Amino acid sequence: MNYFSLNNNAPKVSFKEAVIKGLAPDRGLYFPEEITPLPEDFIRDIEKYEPEEIAFKAIEQFVGEDIPNDELKRIIKETLCFDFPVVNIEEGVYTLELFHGPTMAFKDVGARFMARCLGYFDRNEEENDVTVLVATSGDTGGAVASGFLGVEGVKVVILYPSGKVSDIQEKQLTTLGQNITALEVDGVFDDCQDMVKTAFLDEELKKYRNLTSANSINVARWLPQMFYFFFAYVTLKRQGKAENVVFSVPSGNFGNICAGMVAHKLGLPIQHFIASTNSNDTVPEYLETGIYEPKASKPTISNAMDVGDPSNFIRIQKLVNNDITKLKTLFSSFSFTDKATKKAMKEIHKNSEYVADPHGAVGYLGLKKYSKDNPETTGVFLETAHPVKFLDIVESTLSVKVDIPEQIQAVIDKEKESVLINDYNELKEFLMK
Ligand SMILES: *Cc1c(COP(=O)(O)O)cnc(C)c1O
Repeated sequence: MNYFSLNNNAPKVSFKEAVIKGLAPDRGLYFPEEITPLPEDFIRDIEKYEPEEIAFKAIEQFVGEDIPNDELKRIIKETLCFDFPVVNIEEGVYTLELFHGPTMAFKDVGARFMARCLGYFDRNEEENDVTVLVATSGDTGGAVASGFLGVEGVKVVILYPSGKVSDIQEKQLTTLGQNITALEVDGVFDDCQDMVKTAFLDEELKKYRNLTSANSINVARWLPQMFYFFFAYVTLKRQGKAENVVFSVPSGNFGNICAGMVAHKLGLPIQHFIASTNSNDTVPEYLETGIYEPKASKPTISNAMDVGDPSNFIRIQKLVNNDITKLKTLFSSFSFTDKATKKAMKEIHKNSEYVADPHGAVGYLGLKKYSKDNPETTGVFLETAHPVKFLDIVESTLSVKVDIPEQIQAVIDKEKESVLINDYNELKEFLMK
């Protein structure tokens, strides 16, 4: 499988090169040259397959020759080391819990998959060491730190906006040590993301270090996120609930929802996707006005989605050949305030005793809004993080006590270690050391 740059001004590359480069030399995101639907009988009988077989079928064509099948199967097995339960919240409303991994957020899936791909490339070829440079608005950093910890031949440098991630998130990315370093940036997430993008284009720096990204711009982080859309569909199908399935995905950089849309392209019968956002409403506004206008990100209580210029939206547009009319038949996007989010958390808790985190609650709101006009649907909203990751806001909003799981308590007890930086020059200096 070859990948081309969505800026159309860079050579095509294989999966391996796309993973190692992260972003194309023309600053474009890599996109698969073809997406071939899976055989119809496979989709029809999909509930007969094990999750690992489904994941393999789904990702196989995107990896191509670069990783042998037996190795790819091992990578999938090691990636899928936790459960993806689908919980019934109310009539016709389900949540897909994506938080049973090591850092209790869905990014564990992509991070683990990508780390193992890079580990494979490092073991099997005379590659120089790779430095993974990643910007995080919260959960990416922890998932990447945990996914890559101890992977040989890979160093990880994480940039995060000072004071804008939760305490637990901060601990998850600043306490591991070994091959992981956290840089604390005086700024917002978009500043971190810009610095990362600038670093990738810095020729002087690139001579010195092999840099790649582990944000969802990296195809090895992005694509495995389609697995659990398949799993949730299978779970519903086994319960006879697989007609008119719609997914509502709490969205920030829009990588997760875009991966779901790739699953749809592969033939998974999903009727509609809802990208639910907090007040960072660049995409909902685009659907209303037809004008895509990036904005500065605004801080909210669902901070892993505080993104003003979602990097993966361009991939979503490509999936529908940049046809906004076609996009609207498959995809809606709604924005919700923090006030509405808190109200939804209370409503969910009151009606079904379910404790949702703010991100999941935004997903719930998007689903409710869509299903009001489309009542015949079976709706699934993604619960992208465990409530413990947003402890203060969950406990104060719901007046409940959230039990702290073991893997979280273990990091809370550790000492934070980070390096403060203010601008790109300081980042470069650090990386050139
Ligand atoms: C990253 C993240 C999101 C947003 O996912 P995107 O793929 O960037 O749209 C939503 N919720 C949580 C908890 C996250 O960590």
